[in-house]
Amino acid sequence: MAKVDRKRVVLAIGAHPDDVEFGCGATMAKLASEGAEIYFVVCTDGNRGSRQHQIARESLVNNRHQETIKASQILGAKEVIFLNEEDGNLVADIHFKEKIVRLIRKYQPEMIFTHDPKWFYLIRDNGQAAVNHTDHRACGEAVLDAVYPLARDLQSFPQHIQEGLSTHHVPELYLFNFEQPNFVFDVSTTIEAKIKSIKTHHSQIDDPQKITENIKSRLAKIGQEFGYKYGEGFIKLTFIH
Ligand SMILES: [Zn+2]
Repeated sequence: MAKVDRKRVVLAIGAHPDDVEFGCGATMAKLASEGAEIYFVVCTDGNRGSRQHQIARESLVNNRHQETIKASQILGAKEVIFLNEEDGNLVADIHFKEKIVRLIRKYQPEMIFTHDPKWFYLIRDNGQAAVNHTDHRACGEAVLDAVYPLARDLQSFPQHIQEGLSTHHVPELYLFNFEQPNFVFDVSTTIEAKIKSIKTHHSQIDDPQKITENIKSRLAKIGQEFGYKYGEGFIKLTFIH
C-alpha cells in the first residue's frame, strides 16, 4: 500500500522527564539517524523528582525541562512537548486521554513508544521486588486507550475535528519492557548517546558511573538473546488497518 511521502513520525511518551531516555533513548537515536521525525512527550512536570528538599518546586521544574530538552537534542529529537500534569498524580482519566488523542491527531505518528501499563510489580531472580510507578502505569494506560479506539474514531472528541485535526490510526505501538520483550532494536551504535542523554539529568543522578554500568549490562543482556551487542526491548503491538 502506498505510504504518504513524508518522514516517519515517532512519538515517545513518558510520564516524567528522563523516562523516554531510560525506556527507549538508544532506539530514538537510532531512528533519528535513519531520518525519523521524533517528538518527546513528557506528561508530568517532575516536581517530586528531587531528594534535595530545599529546591523550590518552580526551579526544579525549570531545571528538569532544560535537562530534558538537552537530552532530547542528544538523541536527535525535533521537539519536546511538556503536558505539565502534576508529578505523582497522573490519572488515566478522560481529560488526560484527550490530551494524548490531540497529540496523536496533530502529529499523525507511525510509531508510538510508551510505558507498559501491564507491568504493575515484579520480583527479580534475587528476590528483590519492584513496583512500577503509578504515573508510568497511568501514562501507559492512557496512551493505549488513546491509540485504540479514541484517536481513530470520529465520534471521540469531535471538537478536534472541528478544529481541523483528523482521526488517526497508529500502526505500531512499542511498550518499554526490559524483562520479556517480544521485539528488540539493535542499539549497539547508539547506546553511548542514550547514556549521555541520561547523564544530562543532573538533578536525578547521584552516581553517573554506576548508571553507565547498569545500562550497559542491562542492554547487553537484552541484546544477547537477539544476537546484538546491545539492545532495547519492547512489547511491540502491530495494528493492521
Ligand atoms: Zn518515571
